[in-house]
Amino acid sequence: MREIAEKLLKTRSLDLNEYAKLIRYRANLAEWLKQEALNIKESIYGKDVYIRGLIEISNICKNDCYYCGIRRSNGDVERYRLSEEQILACCDEGYTLGFRTFVLQGGEDGYFTDERLCALIGEIKRRHSDCAVTLSLGERSDDSYAALRRAGADRYLLRHETADREHYGKLHPPEMSFDNRMRCLRSLRDLGYQVGCGFMVGSPYQTEETLAKDLKFIEDFKPDMCGIGPFVPHHGTPMRDFAAGTVELTCFLLSVIRIIYPPVLLPSTTALGTIDPQGREKGLLSGANVVMPNLSPTNVRRKYELYDNKICTGEEAAECKGCLSRRVRSIGCRLAIGRGDIKK
Ligand code: SAH
Repeated sequence: MREIAEKLLKTRSLDLNEYAKLIRYRANLAEWLKQEALNIKESIYGKDVYIRGLIEISNICKNDCYYCGIRRSNGDVERYRLSEEQILACCDEGYTLGFRTFVLQGGEDGYFTDERLCALIGEIKRRHSDCAVTLSLGERSDDSYAALRRAGADRYLLRHETADREHYGKLHPPEMSFDNRMRCLRSLRDLGYQVGCGFMVGSPYQTEETLAKDLKFIEDFKPDMCGIGPFVPHHGTPMRDFAAGTVELTCFLLSVIRIIYPPVLLPSTTALGTIDPQGREKGLLSGANVVMPNLSPTNVRRKYELYDNKICTGEEAAECKGCLSRRVRSIGCRLAIGRGDIKK
């Protein structure tokens, strides 16, 4: 397997077969590729870790993804939606704490029309012109993405979830479409957004072959950002009885993605911190370079429960940032100030 790893390091490209083998026989390669990934990351970003303030604006969702705790059919969720004033207050607090990127994430909630979102984005940009606004609000029309971009949104996160059509069909109800998800990613790119894709590690029915397609997709698409974290079952979903993904495979894939596309912005996710108390540190040491502390008001944190036992649901924003800052320093890195744009 050494030859495959060497080819990856030299060409940053493998075929599907080779990616699948690399994953299958990773045990003896992981340590080596991790060091290579770290070197690549440090050659571009040094010891800087970028921060984004995550604001979970609504847990109301019209979709019914089989894995997600806030899916439409989960009747046990106490639904909430932040008001424009609350969202702006989160940004103001975040700004004071030093955040220069705000990520507005939520379910696909019809309340957030283009008109409302454009006004909101415009106001965030008016108050904090040196900040980047990232949206993570799911699938919308091209016209909608265009309007939000004109209103000032800089980046959009939309995990592709899996690059294998059949696998996509096993994770989502029939009314959701793999082609539409991929269409969204391409139009976001065409509209000039910095675009993030990504997937869950260890999601039900995932195989080395589907993961190979994810890696090939990343190689071809060259996303500005790539969010990967372990699947963690949620008790109120049809996928409650599946096993969670592992830290080991998540970290290995972080390393491989860093090698495939060196400048990519790679978050060490909350899900990784949820399945292992040291998970986020391990992610950063495997090639990740972004953390996303939670800026949502504490009284809604528990309600944005995508998966069981999600961490950081009790702390205030300042505590969350302080905690992450200590974790980052404990491994010899530092939180960078600024928007944290991709260096390509
Ligand atoms: N509605 C938005 C935001 C979704 S939540 C959208 O469609 O993009 C953000 C991410 O959380 C999802 O893309 C998914 O990959 C992840 N997620 C959802 N349920 C999860 C679970 N049970 N375990 C781990 N990650 C999960």
